[in-house]
Amino acid sequence: MRQALVAGNWKMHGSRKATTQLIAELAAGLDAGWAAEVMVCPPFVYLADAARLLNGSGIGLGAQSVSAEETGAFTGDVSASMLKDIGCHYCLVGHSERRALYGEDDHLVARKFVAALREELVPVLCVGETLVEREQGSTEAVVARQLNAVIDVAGIESLDQAVMAYEPVWAIGTGHTATSEQAQEVHHFLRQILAGHDAKIADSMRLLYGGSVKAANAADLFGMTDVDGGLIGGASLKADEFLKICAAAG
Ligand code: PEP
Repeated sequence: MRQALVAGNWKMHGSRKATTQLIAELAAGLDAGWAAEVMVCPPFVYLADAARLLNGSGIGLGAQSVSAEETGAFTGDVSASMLKDIGCHYCLVGHSERRALYGEDDHLVARKFVAALREELVPVLCVGETLVEREQGSTEAVVARQLNAVIDVAGIESLDQAVMAYEPVWAIGTGHTATSEQAQEVHHFLRQILAGHDAKIADSMRLLYGGSVKAANAADLFGMTDVDGGLIGGASLKADEFLKICAAAG
């Protein structure tokens, strides 16, 4: 039985004050009876504050990215050990915005994945196709390539310590959510790839869906066999909406 996970990706939004307020609202509204695990990924500069504020709340902490490097002359980068040091448990790797806007290719994503695991952070590996790729019928080829790059570099056994998120690029921040069936189809495909290497890892892998999830569509998506929660962008910035999504996950 896989425990659902609902993760909030706050992207480059907010301020110190807004972050403090949002965390207070989430902590007050979280129901200890919900089966789903909940975590949030604030911007780097607010992570230390967030770690302190979330302490004892039952809400986990993640970073939105991580350096592939361990330490040294990498201006602007934040290492996995630093994230661990200030209390992160998770970090996103391969978010489509990092891939598209910052040129992070499959190999770099795989190296970030390894860097996270080295410090015992749980990487949330994001994969997903663009609209053009979907229209060309290459959705499966794209997500397989993205996943296989990580398996090649990190080894299948490393996936045992990870979470995955299927985020079709055309659904992120656009309001065009994938249908539950579209999400299920790709999630099933990803689980099959994993099963080709290791049945146990395939069975236990938590596969989140991300892309315009809101309270109104969360229950349908999370009701699919291979959808084990969500990675939520815009809707995670509004406490009441995010809490409803968490409730829908269990
Ligand atoms: C995301 O940022 O990963 C995301 C899924 O965003 P949104 O929910 O706003 O589409």
